[in-house]
Amino acid sequence: MRIGIPAETRPGETRVAATPETVKKLAAKHEVIVQAGAGVMASAVDEAYVAAGARIGSAAEAFGCGVVLKVRAPSAEERALMASGSVLIGMLNPFDADNIAAMAAHGLSAFALEAVPRITRAQSMDVLSSQANIAGYKAVMVAANTYQRFMPMLMTAAGTVKAARVLIMGVGVAGLQAIATAKRLGAVIEASDVRPPVKEQVESLGAKFIDVPFLTDEERDIAKGSGGYARAMPADWMRRQAELVHERARQADIIITTALIPGRPAPVLIAEDTVRAMKPGSVIVDLAVEQGGNCPLSELGKTVVKHGVFIVGEPNLATLVAADASALYARNVLDFMKLIVDKDHALVIDREDEIIKASLVCAGGEVLRK
Ligand code: NAD
Repeated sequence: MRIGIPAETRPGETRVAATPETVKKLAAKHEVIVQAGAGVMASAVDEAYVAAGARIGSAAEAFGCGVVLKVRAPSAEERALMASGSVLIGMLNPFDADNIAAMAAHGLSAFALEAVPRITRAQSMDVLSSQANIAGYKAVMVAANTYQRFMPMLMTAAGTVKAARVLIMGVGVAGLQAIATAKRLGAVIEASDVRPPVKEQVESLGAKFIDVPFLTDEERDIAKGSGGYARAMPADWMRRQAELVHERARQADIIITTALIPGRPAPVLIAEDTVRAMKPGSVIVDLAVEQGGNCPLSELGKTVVKHGVFIVGEPNLATLVAADASALYARNVLDFMKLIVDKDHALVIDREDEIIKASLVCAGGEVLRK
């Protein structure tokens, strides 16, 4: 089997789908072609891939392989370099119907790794978690960098500096890592989420949970989410949450928002009125900016100052930790590969397998996920 690792070309994408570590394992059984320079932004140089057993080639050679490992979906030009019937594995966005239709029309068997179900067997393939963990960490770094004051409490001869108050909105994988990271820097932390089990996790990390009580069975039921993910909460609950958050935001120095609903625009959690009420010089980092943002004032790819508040709209913060983000992503991909390669190193796609069923978005010219 020939496995290709093309360079990512989407603007701002610094990651690579295989590292010398994972290539070494793949190259023991398959022919691996890495596009020249594919890993350079992730600290993986061509020589390291060669030492791991790969051959360095052109984009056409990498895309021309029977199995292509990518971080993001290929562009139309890149897709054209792929042969009908070849296999594509990457974060292909299972909600992008146009792209899936185009990949199907091209005859690809494409796996969108974001759609891998959150079952125990698939934990090592969970790209959303591996990348969200990094984004949560980096969000705190970016916030600390933008914030013009100290994070920890300091007692000096020149006087005392108060610890920063950090508010985390949405406590999934990214939010939990943001709490842990802000804690290490000495901040005082509060957090909010719709899912009730989160309270205990927040408190175990030494942060305070902002409780928005449920007033109806419907609210309680929706808040349980589905498949580990949140569902959109009823308007009345959102209004009560917004009132509480407004009060907490006035006290906060840094807000990090991470709230997402799969396949839907991100919920608005920090309205303009709340931004207006915040202290001058405070910072919002909106991790949901690519899905429309948890704050309507955040702008994709920019840091803006609105009502005296710095609002960071940097998409995809994991790309700013490219080496480790790639290392973890590449291990996710390698584990996924084990599902579709049999003991004789041949490609076998078992359409009955739960993980394959959920992630195979097209095959044989057919769109499999609508
Ligand atoms: P996510 O990225 O989809 O969303 C981030 C967080 O935003 C979630 O916690 C969500 O509940 C929250 N949110 C949504 N709407 C909100 C609102 N209106 N107000 C406040 N918060 C809101 O979430 P994620 O990081 O993918 O994690 C979701 C859950 O899945 C977590 O509990 C995580 O621990 C769990 N998980 C399980 C597995 C597994 O079982 N294998 C793997 C990874 C994650």
